[in-house]
Amino acid sequence: METAARTAPAAVIVAIDGPAGTGKSSTSKAVAAKLGLGYLDTGAQYRAITWWMVANGIDVEDAVAVADAAGKPAIVSGTDPVNPTITVDGTDVSGPIRTQEVTSRVSAVSAVPEVRAVITELQRTIAAEAPRGIVVEGRDIGTTVLPDADLKIFLTASPEVRAARRSGELKGKEAADLAATQAALAKRDALDSGRKTSPLAKADDAVEVDTSELTLDQVIECVVTLVEEKRTVA
Ligand code: C5P
Repeated sequence: METAARTAPAAVIVAIDGPAGTGKSSTSKAVAAKLGLGYLDTGAQYRAITWWMVANGIDVEDAVAVADAAGKPAIVSGTDPVNPTITVDGTDVSGPIRTQEVTSRVSAVSAVPEVRAVITELQRTIAAEAPRGIVVEGRDIGTTVLPDADLKIFLTASPEVRAARRSGELKGKEAADLAATQAALAKRDALDSGRKTSPLAKADDAVEVDTSELTLDQVIECVVTLVEEKRTVA
């Protein structure tokens, strides 16, 4: 009789990095759902800790105050790709973390090394505990958080395409015009790429996929194929 260990595919860890507006979240969720893997949105974790700092009156530009408070909030991520969840001290913050207020402050908070240490440890624990494997999306997953990931993808797209996609996602009074969205993305990229501790960067062994001219379905198909190729080789 075959044992479960022989028949079940080995857990696979997929790291998907890249700047905002490249299709990271949509791609990561869909790939995870198709392959029966978990899904972790690490940007949501940095947004959650930022939301907590703001809610508790901490000046996010004061790196010492942010560092001192980094270990206080309890951030819990649900990893079902069909229904990813995020709570802080038991409160559902999936809505509040997407506000302009949090978006404009998150890069300052995520640049603080103590914040990164806390969140990175959380991410590694979640990835290690995913029974069938996980798709983890972020900025430093392939370079720092999970350098031994089975597959690393780095998504890119032109600034114009990224701004158009992001504008389309924003609703109501938060919908900015295209030029303002492009400028906000460029500012966040510069902060995320320029920080000292684990900046946004492509790992040397990552596969770069430019999504500018591709539909979402094409990007998903491309990543699913790459995962399946890795599994076949393994
Ligand atoms: O992916 P998302 O745009 O939600 O990420 C929000 C912010 O979280 C990024 O701009 C970045 O400052 C931070 N982040 C990070 N490292 C990650 C994921 C996100 O610093 N792995």
